[in-house]
Amino acid sequence: MRKGLRQDLLKRLEDIVGEKYVLTDDEKMEKYSHDETMGYQYFPDAVVMAETAEEVSKVLRLAGDCSIPVTPRGLGTGLSGGCLPIHGGIVLSLERMNQILDVDQENLMVVTQPGVITGELHRTVEQQGLFYPPDPASLDSCSIGGNIAEGSGGPRAVRYGTTKDYVCGLQAVLPTGEIISTGRKVVKDVTGYNITQLLTGSEGTLGVITEIILRLIPKPKMKVDLLAPFDDLSSAARGVSAILQEKTVPTAIEFMDHAAIELAEKYLKKTMAFNKAAAHLLIQLDGNRAEDFEHGMDLVGEVCKRFGAWDLLVADQPSAQARLWEGRRCIFEAANRIGGVYETMDVVAPRNRIADLVNRAEAIAEKFQLNPLCVGHVGDGNVHVLYFQKDGMEKGEWAAQIKQATESLYRATLDMGGKITAEHGIGLTRKPYLTLDLNEAQMGLLKGIKKTFDPKGILNPGKIFDL
Ligand SMILES: Cc1cc2nc3c(=O)[nH]c(=O)nc-3n(C[C@H](O)[C@H](O)[C@H](O)COP(=O)(O)OP(=O)(O)OC[C@H]3O[C@@H](n4cnc5c(N)ncnc54)[C@H](O)[C@@H]3O)c2cc1C
Repeated sequence: MRKGLRQDLLKRLEDIVGEKYVLTDDEKMEKYSHDETMGYQYFPDAVVMAETAEEVSKVLRLAGDCSIPVTPRGLGTGLSGGCLPIHGGIVLSLERMNQILDVDQENLMVVTQPGVITGELHRTVEQQGLFYPPDPASLDSCSIGGNIAEGSGGPRAVRYGTTKDYVCGLQAVLPTGEIISTGRKVVKDVTGYNITQLLTGSEGTLGVITEIILRLIPKPKMKVDLLAPFDDLSSAARGVSAILQEKTVPTAIEFMDHAAIELAEKYLKKTMAFNKAAAHLLIQLDGNRAEDFEHGMDLVGEVCKRFGAWDLLVADQPSAQARLWEGRRCIFEAANRIGGVYETMDVVAPRNRIADLVNRAEAIAEKFQLNPLCVGHVGDGNVHVLYFQKDGMEKGEWAAQIKQATESLYRATLDMGGKITAEHGIGLTRKPYLTLDLNEAQMGLLKGIKKTFDPKGILNPGKIFDL
């Protein structure tokens, strides 16, 4: 819904960030009109690329004075349409704020700007023997600011938790233009309400994050990856619950069904190990002593075999490990580039219900005549269910079927004690389903918080809920 920005406003934006950093040309803005959510495109009236918190503040004050919507954007890898300017206005890109400011060895903290690529942050701290565990599969293309805004997870969450567990402090610019700092380089802080955690996962609707303090841990000295093939989906899923019951906590337990294995092979143009399997479990263990591994590997191997794994591939060298992960990491990219029309769900169930969740996802696909693909961080109970349009299905039929299938899967997940999104956020695509989970009182709280932070409703309007 573009209305166009007046010339005098564009001039004022150029005065703030520099002429070069205000884009209005559709060709240049195309990249900012979509993210990695399949099938959505909205052009802004202008893209503004800020370099400092002060510039962000001035942009927001101007936007507030003129009632122009502002949508923050990291690197556009989101999977719920969060950075799309659905009401036009300004896309505020944080990509120029890309400096790691301080790796603090004494306090085990890193201070960074939001536009830093997450993988870059990993490599920088690891060179100094430190470790930032959250590792979204998009780590070489997403920004750390986007990770904070989404509360992102990743494979290593099984052992180490998600982004929220590492955020100690934030600098953020409120929609009113005020700059606030929450938290510090401290690991404990109960000073008032926890605004740091409120901003974490707020999907760019409460403030623009301009600086981040993250807790680090020592880098584990060793890691090993195991790939186990299964003949049926359900056994693989039950194997995950069984591994966790052994009271061993692997670093990661990832799952790919046969459709995912096939898609990865087609996209990467490579043959994957055990490519006839109905499902793979990809398990990572890390630690500092070989004996910890040996015990963990024996245990995981034994459980996998008990649940029907017919082999176990062990990778302890970086090149072999990278090959094992390549297939899992490429799934969303592959689906977007060669998968056809699809929608993705990001459901999470209690970990003893993983098999039920996967089975329900399959049954729902069959009922609504969709092609399913399941991958995910099953060690956390988190399954990404992709439903693809079948060849020959009419557009209208697809729209009706996917809507019903999505709602059915969400209701089934909630009935199991789960949640409708684990890490991709509500954004735009899950907005219609939020009230399946949250009641009127909860929705009232969310809306009240939004109004307190953003009285004029200019920051990322129309995301998570409508006011
Ligand atoms: C191949 C692939 C694999 C993925 N794997 C995972 C995974 O394993 N785990 C996972 O959790 N996600 C995953 N994702 C989703 C996505 O990468 C994450 O949500 C990521 O955190 C988005 O970062 P971004 O910089 O691309 O943010 P964007 O897409 O640009 O924005 C995402 C949201 O954050 C807001 N935002 C961005 N920067 C700021 C800021 N500085 N201040 C305030 N708001 C801001 C935007 O307004 C938007 O609402 C994957 C995506 C792809 C394409």
